[in-house]
Amino acid sequence: MKLERVLQYAQTLLKMSVSEGDIAVDATAGNGHDTLFLANLVGDDGYVYAFDVQKEAVDATLHRLLDNALEHRAIVLKDGHENVANYIHKPVSAAIFNLGYLPGSNHEIVTKPNTTIQAIESLLKLLKVGGMIVLVVYHGHEGGKNERDEVIRYVSDLPQKHVHVLRYEFMNQKNDPPFIIALEKVKEFPIEG
Ligand code: SAM
Repeated sequence: MKLERVLQYAQTLLKMSVSEGDIAVDATAGNGHDTLFLANLVGDDGYVYAFDVQKEAVDATLHRLLDNALEHRAIVLKDGHENVANYIHKPVSAAIFNLGYLPGSNHEIVTKPNTTIQAIESLLKLLKVGGMIVLVVYHGHEGGKNERDEVIRYVSDLPQKHVHVLRYEFMNQKNDPPFIIALEKVKEFPIEG
C-alpha cells in the first residue's frame, strides 16, 4: 500500500518537523503513545510537553515514559491544552492532537471545540516558522461532528500567507474514519499590541 494510513501519516508529519533538541507538544496525551513518539524525536536535549485533563491519562503517559526510560524528556501536565501558553515560552517545532475520547475510558471526557481552537490559536503563536500542528480528528462520537465542523471552519479561515492547511482523508472508508488536519506555519504572525 502506497498511501499512508492516517496514524502513520501523522507520525510522518511529526518526524518531518521535529529534530533533536526541539520542543514538541502532545496536546492530548491519553495513553501516551504520541508523547513517547515525540520523546524519541526530541532526544536528550529536547523536551515534550504533554497535556491531559484526566489523571488516568497523565498516569498512563508517565508509566509509558518510565517503561521506556524516557521520563526525563517530558513534562506531563494535568491541565487543558487551552492553557499551553502558561507553560511554554520557547518556540515549538510540532504539536499533535487526537480529538475525541480516550479509548477504554470515560466517553464523556472529550475534547471540545472552544478549548481545541483556543489551544490551536496559542500554539500557532508559539510555533516556529516551518513548525507543524497535526490534528487527528475523530468525529464518530457524540459532539464529534460539531467539533470537527468548528475546527474546520476555524482553520479554513487562517491566512494562507502565514499557515498552510492540509486535510488528509480516506474518502471511501465507512464509519466515520479519522482524518488529519495539518497546519504548517510558513511565516511569523505580526506581533500584537
Ligand atoms: N493520543 C492519545 C493516545 O496515544 O492514547 C489519545 C488521546 S484521546 C483521543 C483524547 C484525550 O484528550 C483524552 O485522554 C482526554 O482526556 C483528553 N482531553 C480532553 N479535553 C482536553 C483538554 N482540554 N486538554 C487536554 N486534553 C484533553
